[in-house]
Amino acid sequence: MAGKVVVVVGVPGVGKTTVLNEAVRQAKEAGIQLAVLNFGDVMFELATSQGLVEDRDQIRKLRVDTQIALQAEAAREIAKKATSGSIILDTHAIIKTNEGYWPGLPEPVIRALHPNHIVVVEADPEAIVARRAKDQGIRNRSDDQTVEELRFTMDVNRQAAISSAVLCGASVLFVKNEEGKAGEAASRIVSLLK
Ligand code: ATP
Ligand code: AMP
Ligand code: MG
Repeated sequence: MAGKVVVVVGVPGVGKTTVLNEAVRQAKEAGIQLAVLNFGDVMFELATSQGLVEDRDQIRKLRVDTQIALQAEAAREIAKKATSGSIILDTHAIIKTNEGYWPGLPEPVIRALHPNHIVVVEADPEAIVARRAKDQGIRNRSDDQTVEELRFTMDVNRQAAISSAVLCGASVLFVKNEEGKAGEAASRIVSLLK
């Protein structure tokens, strides 16, 4: 049987990349073939090669039409990456831009990726604010200044995930990344691949 395609989304700093590093470890242990790809890595590589940004948190500050072009190119590159096992894509359902909320998984991206499942990683907003503060200096995720603003973005994020799922019939699974329990969140995601 061909592998699954799982798209993992969540607000910046919720812990997607941390949880997916753990998922790779768990999948290896369980003998499951898994490749984790990071959409932001591909967009960052494209954007730096065009001299547009110096760090990955500048991508969402670019003009939206520039981001649309980078997003389409990244989706094409990712779709080309053949694999015999499952793929998990570390990405965003919604991007908070200067022009408003913008979908990370619009119809052309969904069409290129054909996901079976969309996983929304969530955590308490207070914990996310603390995680962002811890990463200050290496990442700039200060777009939502208050817990209230972050709560609103998380709500939009849920709606965006469901909207994208409607385009392809993917299931949407909400996984809580509780403090100190990234391994538990990872194992719920890995269970989708079994
Ligand atoms: P971005 O969308 O900006 O790439 P992300 O969702 O990938 O963010 P990470 O970089 O994985 O977020 O994590 C952000 C911070 O939260 C890191 O400092 C990480 O160590 C911490 N973190 C992640 N998960 C947990 C957890 N379960 N408990 C405590 N800290 C966590
Ligand atoms: P990340 O490290 O996951 O935060 O990714 C870096 C940046 O890449 C994000 O802040 C977005 O600007 C961009 N990005 C990631 N995934 C997408 C996507 N699906 N659509 C548009 N931009 C994205
Ligand atoms: Mg990340």
